[in-house]
Amino acid sequence: MQLTDPKVIKEVLSKNGFSFKKSLGQNFLINPSVCPKMAESAVCNGEEAVIEIGPGIGVLTAELAKRAKNVVCIEIDERLRPVLPETLAEFNNVEVIFGDCMKLDIAKIIEERFKGKKVSVCANLPYYITSPIIMMLLESRLPITSLTVMVQKEAADRICAKVSSREAGAVTVAVNYYSSPEVLFNVSRGSFMPPPNVDSSVIRLAVRPEPSVKVDDEKGFFNFVRSAFGQRRKTLINSVSSAGKWTKDGIRAALEDAGLSETVRAEALTMEQLAEVFNGLQ
Ligand code: SAM
Repeated sequence: MQLTDPKVIKEVLSKNGFSFKKSLGQNFLINPSVCPKMAESAVCNGEEAVIEIGPGIGVLTAELAKRAKNVVCIEIDERLRPVLPETLAEFNNVEVIFGDCMKLDIAKIIEERFKGKKVSVCANLPYYITSPIIMMLLESRLPITSLTVMVQKEAADRICAKVSSREAGAVTVAVNYYSSPEVLFNVSRGSFMPPPNVDSSVIRLAVRPEPSVKVDDEKGFFNFVRSAFGQRRKTLINSVSSAGKWTKDGIRAALEDAGLSETVRAEALTMEQLAEVFNGLQ
């Protein structure tokens, strides 16, 4: 079945009384060149197992199923229950679990289905919840080697910015803590049905075996980073102190110990410097 053909998509969906739900980020891929490239990236280092979030009608799932031994998809929309067995009928290595990926126990799913196998994640993520899904997958320390995901271009640029650049934000630091991110390619809005209002990019996050820097308290570090980048035009002292947890004097001393000026902004610091200032505050 040609799942990128708008005629086929309309036929399959209307037969099942399905209409697109914007609130679930339902923009389905119709550009045939995108899914094979995403699947190649997900199954390129001997990965045998792939988790896909949000299969939709299964256009990316089919490309994953051709390359991996096992594919487990997590789909929130129960209306796709009768659709997926039809569109993926030719594959016997795909399992679809219906539920909210933010609520399911993904560690348990991996343990039960994929024990011992190399697992990657591949998804055309729903836009309304992109960063929470990426952070949930990284923070849970799942045995995952990489994430190949489609996100809004603006989010991709932020996530894959160089830490210590004007484009960097709290999410850049958080993602770089757990992984090495890169933009693979851009995808125009016309590649989707219905077309969204923005262009997209496919990014790949290669998960690090160990975090990129050592911090005394992970949760505290991410709170510190969020407040440091929270008010971008302010100096780090002003933005972090206004969050209330640390005093200006304490932050000034930590900056001085790290050899940094008290007028520095968060976007000028490297991962190592951010970690050093935070550890100095403890
Ligand atoms: N993979 C398909 C494609 O590329 O054409 C569909 C991608 S569409 C951008 C996002 C998919 O994620 C939809 O199928 C939507 O129903 C599903 N979805 C939205 N929120 C979800 C959640 N919290 N958990 C699991 N799936 C979700």
